[in-house]
Amino acid sequence: MTTNWTSPVCVCGRLLELERNDRAAVDLACLCERRIEVRRAGGSWLIAAMLAPERSVPISGFSRELRLDPRAQRFYFSHSIGGSEIPVHIVYSESLRVAEVKAAGMKVSALVEVDGPLDARRRWVERFEALRRHSKPGPNRRPSDSFPWSGPRPAARPS
Ligand SMILES: [Zn+2]
Repeated sequence: MTTNWTSPVCVCGRLLELERNDRAAVDLACLCERRIEVRRAGGSWLIAAMLAPERSVPISGFSRELRLDPRAQRFYFSHSIGGSEIPVHIVYSESLRVAEVKAAGMKVSALVEVDGPLDARRRWVERFEALRRHSKPGPNRRPSDSFPWSGPRPAARPS
């Protein structure tokens, strides 16, 4: 296989093998177990998203079913929220094609018909960004139940 594309490199140092294709974006799995979404940019591939494997879910909020599923796959990624990078956790079941995504301090988002952990991430980010755009601070803002991020919450907020 000859290719003119510059192959992307995982953070573990491995070159990510890409079949020749016409797609604009490809989901890859590295041997280090990271999942990587690459996007075509000019003459090369850029890493658009990276999920790192996670051995256990450090935060509560996931459904018991997925937490106890021995075959569930766990990943995390960082998402920029209000200027800081927040870890976002994904639990994905390939057999059920469901995923649960949760950022620290937020409610879990359950997704169905998921085509892999990167798909779960894309859908979560899309939904999160759409809701964030629609929930600019305003008089009718409901910080407690607006999905999913209510901003850094002071311990005691005057109401
Ligand atoms: Zn790797």
